[in-house]
Amino acid sequence: MLAKIIDGKTLAATVRASQKSAIESLAARGVRPGLAAILVGNDPASRVYVRNKARACEETGVRSETHALPEDIAETALLERVMQLNADSRVHGIVVQLPLPRHLDSSRVLAAVSPSKDVDGFHAVNLGALLQGRPGFVPGTPAGVMRLLEHAGVPLAGRHAVIVGRSTIVGKPLALLLLQKDATVTICHSKTVDLAVVTRQADVLVAAAGRAKLITAGMVKPGACVIDVGINRLADGSLAGDVDFEPVRAVAGSITPVPGGVGPMTVAMLIVNTIHAAEISIA
Ligand code: NAP
Repeated sequence: MLAKIIDGKTLAATVRASQKSAIESLAARGVRPGLAAILVGNDPASRVYVRNKARACEETGVRSETHALPEDIAETALLERVMQLNADSRVHGIVVQLPLPRHLDSSRVLAAVSPSKDVDGFHAVNLGALLQGRPGFVPGTPAGVMRLLEHAGVPLAGRHAVIVGRSTIVGKPLALLLLQKDATVTICHSKTVDLAVVTRQADVLVAAAGRAKLITAGMVKPGACVIDVGINRLADGSLAGDVDFEPVRAVAGSITPVPGGVGPMTVAMLIVNTIHAAEISIA
C-alpha cells in the first residue's frame, strides 16, 4: 500500500485561516501585524522565498514590506537598516533572508535583530529559550514539521525520530521540539557512518540535508513517517526534496511531498509568529 500523503499546503491554509480572529482582535485595538523582510542581493531562490512570504502575509491580513538591498551593501549599512526596523512600531517581525553575500557576517546581522521581533527564531535568545523549554519564537520550519506530525496523528512519545541534518535553523531546533514530545532523537550529519543503518531504525524520519534523493526506499523502515524538508533545484529546473519520493512512498506509512509539504508550513508558522509578536507588543 502507498504511504498516506501529508498535505502541507492545505494545512498551511487552515493554519493561516485560524489566525483570522487574532487579526480581528488586533485590528479592534488599532494594530495591523507587520512583517519586514530584508533581501540582500539577487539570489533567485531568495527572491522567490521573500515573494511567497509577502504574498502569504497579505492573504492573511499581515502587512508586509520588503527591503531589497544591493549585493555589495556594507555591513554597517545593513545593521543600520535592522536597527531602524527594530525601532519601527509598525514592524512586529523582521526576517533576514539567508544566505547573505559572503562579505556579510550573518551571525552578527541576526544578533542585531531585536529578540522580540525575531519571528524567524534565529536569535540566540530565542534559540536559548527553546533549549530551556521556555516561551520564545520557534523557527518556522521545525515548528511547521511539528504541526504536520500533530495533524497526521503521528505518535512521538517513546518513538525513535531520526533527523538527517544538524543546521541551527532546522535539524537542531527540531531535535529539541521532538525531545519535548518525548521522542528518542538521533541527529545524523555528513560524518555519520552508515547512514542507512540509522535511518532504518526511524519511526519518524526527517530529511533536512539539502541533497536531492538522498533518502532511498532501502533507508526507510516500513510504515515510518517520512518528512521531507529538502528543497533542491535539479538541472532541468524542477524542484526535488531530499527523499526519493515514489519508491519511498511504497515503503513509508506517511510522507510529505515536495513541493506542498514542509515549505508552505514554514511560511504559515512565520505568519503565526508575526501575529504573536504584534500581540506581545501591546500586551
Ligand atoms: P544546511 O545548513 O546546509 O545543513 C545541511 C545538513 O545536512 C548539515 O548538517 C549536513 O551535515 C547534513 N548533510 C549534508 N549532506 C549529507 C549527507 N550526504 N548525509 C548526511 N547528512 C548530510 O541546510 P539547511 O539550511 O538545514 O537546509 C536543509 C535543506 O532544507 C535544504 O535543501 C534547504 O533548502 C531546505 N530547507 C527547506 C525549508 C522549507 O521551508 N521547506 C526551510 C529551510 C531549509 P554537516 O553538518 O556535517 O555538514
